[in-house]
Amino acid sequence: MGPEGSVKCARCGRPARVRVQYAKLNLCDEHFIEYLRGRVLRLLARLARPRDIRRVLVAVSGGKDSVSLLDILVGIRELAGLKEVYGLHIDLGIGSYSEESLAVAKEACERLGVPCVALSLRDLLGLGVPELAKASRRPACSVCGMVKRYIINAVGLELGVDAVVLGHHMDDILVFALKDLFTGDLRDLSKLAPLSPGVDGLLVTRIRPLYEVYEQDLALYSALRGLRVVGGSCPFKHEDFLKAALRDLLRKLEEEAPGFEISLSRRIARDLLPRLSQGAQEGSAVPCKYCGMPSSNGVCSFCRLTEKVFGRPMGPIVREGIKAAVLRLRASSATNGPHPGAPASGAR
Ligand code: SF4
Ligand code: ZN
Ligand code: ZN
Repeated sequence: MGPEGSVKCARCGRPARVRVQYAKLNLCDEHFIEYLRGRVLRLLARLARPRDIRRVLVAVSGGKDSVSLLDILVGIRELAGLKEVYGLHIDLGIGSYSEESLAVAKEACERLGVPCVALSLRDLLGLGVPELAKASRRPACSVCGMVKRYIINAVGLELGVDAVVLGHHMDDILVFALKDLFTGDLRDLSKLAPLSPGVDGLLVTRIRPLYEVYEQDLALYSALRGLRVVGGSCPFKHEDFLKAALRDLLRKLEEEAPGFEISLSRRIARDLLPRLSQGAQEGSAVPCKYCGMPSSNGVCSFCRLTEKVFGRPMGPIVREGIKAAVLRLRASSATNGPHPGAPASGAR
Protein backbone atom coordinates (compact mmCIF):
# COMPACT_ATOMS: atom_id res chain seq x y z
CA MET A 1 0.00 0.00 0.00
CA GLY A 2 1.30 3.50 -0.83
CA PRO A 3 1.89 6.28 1.72
CA GLU A 4 -0.50 9.24 2.33
CA GLY A 5 -0.49 12.09 -0.21
CA SER A 6 1.72 14.50 1.77
CA VAL A 7 4.54 12.03 2.46
CA LYS A 8 7.80 12.77 0.66
CA CYS A 9 10.32 10.48 -0.99
CA ALA A 10 13.27 9.87 1.35
CA ARG A 11 15.71 10.31 -1.53
CA CYS A 12 14.46 13.32 -3.51
CA GLY A 13 11.65 15.00 -1.53
CA ARG A 14 9.05 14.56 -4.29
CA PRO A 15 5.71 12.97 -3.33
CA ALA A 16 6.27 9.35 -2.28
CA ARG A 17 4.10 6.66 -3.85
CA VAL A 18 5.64 3.55 -2.33
CA ARG A 19 5.99 2.58 1.32
CA VAL A 20 8.75 0.00 1.83
CA GLN A 21 7.60 -1.27 5.20
CA TYR A 22 10.55 -3.53 6.10
CA ALA A 23 13.04 -0.71 5.38
CA LYS A 24 10.82 2.04 6.88
CA LEU A 25 11.21 4.02 3.67
CA ASN A 26 8.85 6.14 1.58
CA LEU A 27 9.95 6.43 -2.02
CA CYS A 28 8.83 7.86 -5.34
CA ASP A 29 8.56 5.46 -8.31
CA GLU A 30 11.98 6.30 -9.68
CA HIS A 31 13.74 5.81 -6.34
CA PHE A 32 11.90 2.59 -5.61
CA ILE A 33 13.31 1.21 -8.88
CA GLU A 34 16.77 2.42 -7.90
CA TYR A 35 16.35 1.02 -4.37
CA LEU A 36 15.40 -2.47 -5.59
CA ARG A 37 18.23 -2.54 -8.12
CA GLY A 38 20.61 -1.54 -5.33
CA ARG A 39 19.40 -4.42 -3.15
CA VAL A 40 19.90 -6.93 -5.96
CA LEU A 41 23.34 -5.47 -6.67
CA ARG A 42 24.38 -6.03 -3.04
CA LEU A 43 22.94 -9.54 -2.95
CA LEU A 44 24.70 -10.38 -6.20
CA ALA A 45 27.99 -9.00 -4.89
CA ARG A 46 27.61 -11.07 -1.72
CA LEU A 47 27.12 -14.26 -3.76
CA ALA A 48 29.75 -13.49 -6.36
CA ARG A 49 32.43 -12.16 -3.99
CA PRO A 50 35.05 -14.93 -3.97
CA ARG A 51 34.33 -15.78 -7.59
CA ASP A 52 34.84 -13.89 -10.78
CA ILE A 53 31.32 -13.76 -12.18
CA ARG A 54 31.38 -11.71 -15.39
CA ARG A 55 29.40 -13.75 -17.90
CA VAL A 56 25.96 -14.91 -16.90
CA LEU A 57 22.99 -16.76 -18.34
CA VAL A 58 19.55 -15.71 -17.10
CA ALA A 59 16.70 -18.20 -17.32
CA VAL A 60 13.74 -16.14 -18.58
CA SER A 61 10.40 -17.93 -18.26
CA GLY A 62 8.38 -14.82 -19.13
CA GLY A 63 6.88 -14.45 -15.65
CA LYS A 64 7.27 -11.22 -13.69
CA ASP A 65 10.11 -12.60 -11.56
CA SER A 66 12.51 -13.56 -14.33
CA VAL A 67 11.56 -10.63 -16.60
CA SER A 68 12.15 -8.21 -13.71
CA LEU A 69 15.42 -9.94 -12.82
CA LEU A 70 16.67 -9.56 -16.40
CA ASP A 71 15.67 -5.89 -16.42
CA ILE A 72 17.42 -5.31 -13.07
CA LEU A 73 20.61 -7.12 -14.14
CA VAL A 74 20.86 -5.07 -17.32
CA GLY A 75 20.20 -1.92 -15.26
CA ILE A 76 23.07 -2.73 -12.86
CA ARG A 77 25.30 -4.45 -15.40
CA GLU A 78 28.19 -1.98 -15.22
CA LEU A 79 28.09 -1.60 -11.43
CA ALA A 80 28.02 -5.38 -11.08
CA GLY A 81 30.91 -5.79 -13.55
CA LEU A 82 28.89 -8.06 -15.83
CA LYS A 83 30.56 -8.27 -19.23
CA GLU A 84 28.04 -10.54 -20.92
CA VAL A 85 24.41 -11.28 -20.12
CA TYR A 86 22.56 -13.99 -22.08
CA GLY A 87 18.91 -14.95 -21.85
CA LEU A 88 17.54 -18.48 -22.13
CA HIS A 89 13.93 -19.39 -22.74
CA ILE A 90 12.70 -22.98 -22.91
CA ASP A 91 9.42 -23.51 -24.75
CA LEU A 92 7.93 -26.36 -22.71
CA GLY A 93 5.17 -27.13 -25.21
CA ILE A 94 2.33 -26.36 -22.78
CA GLY A 95 -0.23 -24.96 -25.25
CA SER A 96 -1.06 -21.26 -25.31
CA TYR A 97 0.73 -20.71 -21.99
CA SER A 98 4.04 -21.64 -23.61
CA GLU A 99 3.27 -19.62 -26.75
CA GLU A 100 2.72 -16.46 -24.70
CA SER A 101 5.77 -17.18 -22.52
CA LEU A 102 8.02 -17.47 -25.55
CA ALA A 103 6.76 -14.21 -27.06
CA VAL A 104 7.20 -12.34 -23.75
CA ALA A 105 10.69 -13.72 -23.06
CA LYS A 106 11.90 -12.93 -26.58
CA GLU A 107 10.49 -9.42 -26.38
CA ALA A 108 12.18 -8.81 -23.00
CA CYS A 109 15.58 -9.92 -24.33
CA GLU A 110 15.22 -7.94 -27.56
CA ARG A 111 14.21 -4.75 -25.74
CA LEU A 112 17.23 -5.00 -23.46
CA GLY A 113 19.69 -6.02 -26.20
CA VAL A 114 20.32 -9.38 -24.54
CA PRO A 115 21.20 -12.29 -26.87
CA CYS A 116 18.58 -14.96 -26.35
CA VAL A 117 18.84 -18.72 -26.72
CA ALA A 118 15.25 -19.85 -27.34
CA LEU A 119 14.82 -23.62 -27.33
CA SER A 120 11.71 -25.68 -27.95
CA LEU A 121 11.45 -28.95 -26.06
CA ARG A 122 9.33 -30.34 -28.88
CA ASP A 123 12.02 -29.48 -31.45
CA LEU A 124 14.75 -30.98 -29.29
CA LEU A 125 12.91 -34.08 -28.19
CA GLY A 126 9.73 -34.45 -30.23
CA LEU A 127 7.58 -34.14 -27.08
CA GLY A 128 6.48 -31.31 -24.80
CA VAL A 129 6.11 -31.50 -21.00
CA PRO A 130 2.48 -32.80 -21.04
CA GLU A 131 3.31 -35.78 -23.29
CA LEU A 132 6.58 -36.47 -21.50
CA ALA A 133 4.78 -36.53 -18.14
CA LYS A 134 2.09 -38.83 -19.49
CA ALA A 135 4.54 -41.23 -21.12
CA SER A 136 6.75 -41.42 -18.03
CA ARG A 137 3.79 -41.47 -15.59
CA ARG A 138 5.32 -38.76 -13.50
CA PRO A 139 3.81 -35.46 -12.34
CA ALA A 140 4.20 -32.70 -14.94
CA CYS A 141 6.04 -30.36 -12.55
CA SER A 142 8.58 -32.98 -11.55
CA VAL A 143 9.38 -33.77 -15.21
CA CYS A 144 9.37 -30.09 -16.10
CA GLY A 145 11.74 -29.12 -13.26
CA MET A 146 14.21 -31.85 -14.16
CA VAL A 147 14.13 -31.02 -17.89
CA LYS A 148 14.63 -27.30 -17.19
CA ARG A 149 17.59 -27.95 -14.86
CA TYR A 150 19.17 -30.19 -17.51
CA ILE A 151 18.74 -27.72 -20.38
CA ILE A 152 19.78 -24.68 -18.36
CA ASN A 153 22.98 -26.41 -17.28
CA ALA A 154 23.72 -27.69 -20.79
CA VAL A 155 23.26 -24.22 -22.31
CA GLY A 156 25.40 -22.67 -19.57
CA LEU A 157 28.20 -25.17 -20.27
CA GLU A 158 27.94 -24.60 -24.02
CA LEU A 159 28.14 -20.82 -23.62
CA GLY A 160 30.92 -21.13 -21.05
CA VAL A 161 29.27 -18.67 -18.65
CA ASP A 162 30.50 -18.16 -15.09
CA ALA A 163 27.03 -18.61 -13.61
CA VAL A 164 23.39 -19.22 -14.32
CA VAL A 165 21.15 -16.64 -12.65
CA LEU A 166 17.73 -17.83 -11.50
CA GLY A 167 14.72 -15.68 -10.64
CA HIS A 168 13.42 -17.52 -7.55
CA HIS A 169 12.23 -14.92 -5.07
CA MET A 170 12.27 -15.05 -1.28
CA ASP A 171 8.59 -15.89 -0.69
CA ASP A 172 8.75 -19.01 -2.88
CA ILE A 173 12.12 -20.10 -1.50
CA LEU A 174 10.85 -19.80 2.08
CA VAL A 175 7.64 -21.71 1.38
CA PHE A 176 9.60 -24.55 -0.27
CA ALA A 177 12.22 -24.56 2.48
CA LEU A 178 9.65 -24.63 5.29
CA LYS A 179 7.64 -27.32 3.57
CA ASP A 180 10.75 -29.48 3.24
CA LEU A 181 11.53 -28.92 6.92
CA PHE A 182 7.95 -29.71 7.95
CA THR A 183 7.88 -32.94 5.96
CA GLY A 184 11.45 -33.87 6.94
CA ASP A 185 12.48 -34.18 3.29
CA LEU A 186 15.73 -32.28 3.13
CA ARG A 187 16.98 -33.76 -0.17
CA ASP A 188 15.56 -30.97 -2.32
CA LEU A 189 16.34 -28.14 0.08
CA SER A 190 19.89 -27.70 -1.22
CA LYS A 191 18.45 -26.86 -4.67
CA LEU A 192 17.20 -23.59 -3.16
CA ALA A 193 20.55 -22.31 -1.94
CA PRO A 194 21.37 -18.73 -3.03
CA LEU A 195 24.63 -20.13 -4.37
CA SER A 196 25.14 -23.64 -5.71
CA PRO A 197 28.80 -23.90 -6.68
CA GLY A 198 29.57 -25.55 -10.01
CA VAL A 199 31.95 -28.32 -11.00
CA ASP A 200 34.32 -27.64 -13.92
CA GLY A 201 32.98 -28.93 -17.23
CA LEU A 202 30.03 -30.61 -15.53
CA LEU A 203 27.89 -28.22 -13.60
CA VAL A 204 27.56 -24.47 -13.98
CA THR A 205 27.41 -22.38 -10.78
CA ARG A 206 23.83 -21.31 -10.03
CA ILE A 207 22.96 -18.12 -8.16
CA ARG A 208 19.64 -16.78 -6.90
CA PRO A 209 20.13 -13.07 -6.23
CA LEU A 210 16.42 -12.61 -5.36
CA TYR A 211 16.63 -14.80 -2.26
CA GLU A 212 16.04 -11.75 -0.07
CA VAL A 213 13.59 -10.01 -2.42
CA TYR A 214 9.83 -10.02 -1.77
CA GLU A 215 7.48 -11.14 -4.50
CA GLN A 216 5.40 -7.99 -4.06
CA ASP A 217 8.48 -5.81 -4.69
CA LEU A 218 9.04 -7.61 -7.98
CA ALA A 219 5.39 -7.17 -8.92
CA LEU A 220 5.67 -3.46 -8.19
CA TYR A 221 8.98 -3.19 -10.05
CA SER A 222 7.57 -4.83 -13.18
CA ALA A 223 4.49 -2.57 -13.07
CA LEU A 224 6.51 0.64 -12.56
CA ARG A 225 8.91 -0.33 -15.35
CA GLY A 226 5.98 -1.17 -17.64
CA LEU A 227 7.37 -4.64 -18.34
CA ARG A 228 5.30 -7.06 -20.37
CA VAL A 229 4.97 -10.32 -18.44
CA VAL A 230 2.94 -13.50 -18.91
CA GLY A 231 -0.63 -12.87 -17.77
CA GLY A 232 -1.90 -16.35 -16.90
CA SER A 233 -0.51 -19.28 -14.95
CA CYS A 234 0.71 -22.62 -16.20
CA PRO A 235 -2.26 -25.04 -16.28
CA PHE A 236 -0.22 -27.51 -14.19
CA LYS A 237 0.42 -25.00 -11.39
CA HIS A 238 -0.97 -26.29 -8.16
CA GLU A 239 -0.42 -25.22 -4.57
CA ASP A 240 -1.11 -27.91 -1.94
CA PHE A 241 -2.70 -27.05 1.40
CA LEU A 242 0.61 -27.09 3.30
CA LYS A 243 2.26 -24.62 0.96
CA ALA A 244 -0.82 -22.37 1.03
CA ALA A 245 -0.88 -22.48 4.85
CA LEU A 246 2.84 -21.70 5.10
CA ARG A 247 2.48 -18.79 2.68
CA ASP A 248 -0.33 -17.45 4.83
CA LEU A 249 1.71 -17.88 8.01
CA LEU A 250 4.69 -16.05 6.52
CA ARG A 251 2.44 -13.20 5.39
CA LYS A 252 1.04 -12.81 8.91
CA LEU A 253 4.48 -12.94 10.53
CA GLU A 254 5.72 -10.33 8.08
CA GLU A 255 2.78 -8.06 8.87
CA GLU A 256 3.53 -8.33 12.60
CA ALA A 257 7.27 -7.91 12.22
CA PRO A 258 8.28 -6.27 8.92
CA GLY A 259 11.58 -7.75 7.72
CA PHE A 260 10.93 -11.12 9.38
CA GLU A 261 11.17 -12.98 6.08
CA ILE A 262 14.49 -11.36 5.20
CA SER A 263 16.06 -12.44 8.52
CA LEU A 264 14.67 -15.95 8.14
CA SER A 265 15.87 -16.27 4.56
CA ARG A 266 19.34 -15.02 5.56
CA ARG A 267 19.58 -17.46 8.46
CA ILE A 268 18.50 -20.43 6.33
CA ALA A 269 20.95 -19.43 3.57
CA ARG A 270 23.83 -18.82 5.97
CA ASP A 271 23.45 -21.65 8.49
CA LEU A 272 21.55 -24.47 6.84
CA LEU A 273 21.74 -24.58 3.07
CA PRO A 274 25.53 -24.46 2.52
CA ARG A 275 25.99 -27.72 4.42
CA LEU A 276 23.16 -29.41 2.54
CA SER A 277 24.26 -28.19 -0.90
CA GLN A 278 27.84 -29.33 -0.29
CA GLY A 279 26.66 -32.86 0.40
CA ALA A 280 24.24 -32.87 -2.54
CA GLN A 281 26.84 -31.68 -4.99
CA GLU A 282 29.47 -34.16 -3.97
CA GLY A 283 26.93 -36.90 -4.64
CA SER A 284 26.06 -35.63 -8.12
CA ALA A 285 29.46 -34.95 -9.58
CA VAL A 286 29.82 -38.09 -11.74
CA PRO A 287 29.44 -37.56 -15.52
CA CYS A 288 26.58 -39.42 -17.19
CA LYS A 289 28.00 -42.22 -19.37
CA TYR A 290 25.66 -41.23 -22.20
CA CYS A 291 25.69 -37.44 -22.29
CA GLY A 292 28.42 -36.26 -19.88
CA MET A 293 26.07 -34.27 -17.67
CA PRO A 294 26.06 -34.55 -13.84
CA SER A 295 24.64 -37.68 -12.32
CA SER A 296 24.77 -39.47 -8.99
CA ASN A 297 25.33 -42.98 -10.37
CA GLY A 298 26.62 -42.73 -13.94
CA VAL A 299 23.28 -42.11 -15.70
CA CYS A 300 21.71 -38.66 -15.37
CA SER A 301 18.01 -38.28 -14.58
CA PHE A 302 17.32 -36.90 -18.06
CA CYS A 303 18.83 -39.94 -19.82
CA ARG A 304 17.08 -42.24 -17.35
CA LEU A 305 13.69 -40.68 -18.04
CA THR A 306 14.11 -40.51 -21.81
CA GLU A 307 15.39 -44.09 -21.95
CA LYS A 308 12.14 -45.13 -20.31
CA VAL A 309 10.01 -43.08 -22.73
CA PHE A 310 11.93 -43.45 -26.03
CA GLY A 311 13.78 -46.68 -25.44
CA ARG A 312 17.13 -44.87 -25.65
CA PRO A 313 18.78 -42.03 -23.70
CA MET A 314 18.16 -38.71 -25.44
CA GLY A 315 20.76 -36.62 -23.59
CA PRO A 316 23.35 -36.76 -26.41
CA ILE A 317 20.77 -35.70 -29.03
CA VAL A 318 19.47 -32.83 -26.91
CA ARG A 319 23.02 -31.66 -26.21
CA GLU A 320 23.72 -31.64 -29.97
CA GLY A 321 20.59 -29.53 -30.52
CA ILE A 322 21.74 -27.10 -27.83
CA LYS A 323 25.21 -26.88 -29.34
CA ALA A 324 23.70 -26.01 -32.73
CA ALA A 325 21.47 -23.32 -31.16
CA VAL A 326 24.44 -21.72 -29.38
CA LEU A 327 26.47 -21.76 -32.61
CA ARG A 328 23.57 -20.05 -34.40
CA LEU A 329 23.41 -17.40 -31.66
CA ARG A 330 27.18 -16.80 -31.91
CA ALA A 331 26.96 -16.51 -35.70
CA SER A 332 24.10 -14.02 -35.53
CA SER A 333 25.86 -11.99 -32.80
CA ALA A 334 28.98 -11.86 -34.98
CA THR A 335 26.88 -10.61 -37.91
CA ASN A 336 24.64 -8.19 -36.04
CA GLY A 337 26.79 -6.81 -33.27
CA PRO A 338 30.37 -6.57 -32.12
CA HIS A 339 29.91 -8.09 -28.68
CA PRO A 340 27.31 -10.53 -27.42
CA GLY A 341 25.46 -9.14 -24.43
CA ALA A 342 26.73 -5.61 -24.96
CA PRO A 343 24.46 -2.82 -23.62
CA ALA A 344 21.84 -1.68 -26.12
CA SER A 345 20.18 1.69 -26.36
CA GLY A 346 16.93 1.80 -24.40
CA ALA A 347 18.23 -0.79 -21.97
CA ARG A 348 18.15 1.52 -18.96
FE1 SF4 B 1 6.56 -26.55 -15.33
FE2 SF4 B 1 4.89 -27.12 -13.30
FE3 SF4 B 1 5.92 -24.67 -13.55
FE4 SF4 B 1 4.09 -25.55 -15.27
S1 SF4 B 1 3.78 -25.17 -13.07
S2 SF4 B 1 5.99 -24.42 -15.79
S3 SF4 B 1 4.65 -27.70 -15.44
S4 SF4 B 1 7.08 -26.55 -13.13
ZN1 ZN C 1 12.44 10.08 -5.11
ZN1 ZN D 1 22.74 -38.22 -19.52
